[in-house]
Amino acid sequence: MHELSVAQGIVSAALSHIKGRGKVREVHVAIGELTHINAEQLAFAFEIASRGTPLEGAMLETRVIEARLRCISCGREGKSFTCEECGSAMEVLAGEELLLERLKLVEGDGDAQGSGD
Ligand SMILES: [Zn+2]
Repeated sequence: MHELSVAQGIVSAALSHIKGRGKVREVHVAIGELTHINAEQLAFAFEIASRGTPLEGAMLETRVIEARLRCISCGREGKSFTCEECGSAMEVLAGEELLLERLKLVEGDGDAQGSGD
């Protein structure tokens, strides 16, 4: 399952960002349209991949980056892989990315820990 390896990538990227600074409440990612990642499946896979980490229980928020392609000979932009104007190949400007945009940590961390020892 493609989404599971993507989710594992998100988890490890997030972990290296927070460096043990507490639990994560929200993870915001941007997914290019051309990656064909299914947001619901990714959320499910994220739940599995984040178990036992500071990301467990965090909300995964995804936004889709629209595909943008440009003709290599006439420069016309569109969404297909061949130019509607001249029939040449199109290069991808956007839509293939997978970005970890923002992490929100749990503030205070109050009730969960703190009264232990
Ligand atoms: Zn063209």
